[in-house]
Amino acid sequence: MQTQRIASRVANIKPSPSSSAADRANELRQQGRDIISLVVGEPDFDTPSNVGKAAWEAIQRGETRYTANSGSQAMRQAIKSKLERENNLHYNENEIVVTNGAKAAIFTAFLATIEAGDEVVIPAPYWVSYPDMVIACEGTPVIAQCSEAEGFKLTAERLRSVLTDKTRWLIINSPSNPTGASYHHDDYVALAEVLADYPDVLIMTDDIYEHIRYDNQENVHLLNAAPQLKDQTVLINGVSKTYAMTGWRIGFAVGPFYLIDAFQKLQSQSAGNACSVSQAAAIEAYNGDQSFVKTSQAVYQQRRNDTLALINNIDGLHCSPPDGAFYLYVGCEKLIGMQTEDGTVLETDNDLVLYLLEKANVAVVAGSAYGLSPYFRMSIATSQTQLHTACERITTALAKLKQG
Ligand code: PMP
Repeated sequence: MQTQRIASRVANIKPSPSSSAADRANELRQQGRDIISLVVGEPDFDTPSNVGKAAWEAIQRGETRYTANSGSQAMRQAIKSKLERENNLHYNENEIVVTNGAKAAIFTAFLATIEAGDEVVIPAPYWVSYPDMVIACEGTPVIAQCSEAEGFKLTAERLRSVLTDKTRWLIINSPSNPTGASYHHDDYVALAEVLADYPDVLIMTDDIYEHIRYDNQENVHLLNAAPQLKDQTVLINGVSKTYAMTGWRIGFAVGPFYLIDAFQKLQSQSAGNACSVSQAAAIEAYNGDQSFVKTSQAVYQQRRNDTLALINNIDGLHCSPPDGAFYLYVGCEKLIGMQTEDGTVLETDNDLVLYLLEKANVAVVAGSAYGLSPYFRMSIATSQTQLHTACERITTALAKLKQG
């Protein structure tokens, strides 16, 4: 009899809750239910046509072979220029590695640096994949709670209270998935003051939502406010969200040479180079016409304003305005303890999310997945009409709840 043994590093992690929720919404759709899914975090726009054209031209030129393991020189040059132009940050090409999406960049960075028992500080609410990636690398996630009253951001005080001599990484994701919270210049300066006592702690900035920002907020990077942290910081970014290129799988990591070199070595023995055709597309995304970034930004801004107003009008729900990204992180503590028509008590945000799926035909993800309850996350990367209908359905379903 086969034992079907799986390594504990896999047995100890769970599948992404947002992927599971998306799968469940699709299952119900296949059963004929009219589900509005506000689950996944991907732009609903098509990739800009100049980018697609660049990919096709690359195929015609025969750029269909392996590239350098760390990415083609032209791709690394495009990233180098992007960092100078948009972030006022200066790196050499050998401090840049191109990856199969930002996700692979984060995972490889952890795998290259985490020893068993090393701690990784993850401010909550967090992107669902960080803790499980750390666990898969045999590290220990240390969750630093950041309340809505603190703007869902890590304060200097909280940071100091969670740092230990085992801390290997601190993750900063600004604007954040799921809350949209952004760190400003002064937030960074305060964190940097604490980090000055911890020169061996590496800092990962996940900048994937940098271009989805509201109300003309400035794009400030940690290293603009605290350049002295450059030797201990790794930047993660990619084209997925900014250029609606989630399927192309191009991300990158940038940081001190010794880390990028180790990273590169690991990538050469695992995934290998990122797709050559996608790299050609991403070069055009960075070097070509940038109007898509502006026009998509304006659409997100409108949806964010409208949906935020609709949600804040629903009895029992509240939401702080996100600074960026394309999610609303909706507080629902007033609904906890209420009863559904069949007498079931909503004890957690998970119960509420299941209720909304069953009774409102709207799929969202429970705050428990992101480390702060009771909340749920709804993606606004879908049409205004769908968002309106979803809010109407939520209003109707919640009106049927009774005090428990
Ligand atoms: N970081 C965050 C915070 C994200 O939300 C995502 C995508 N959901 C990623 C990284 C991964 O992006 P990519 O598609 O480039 O792998």
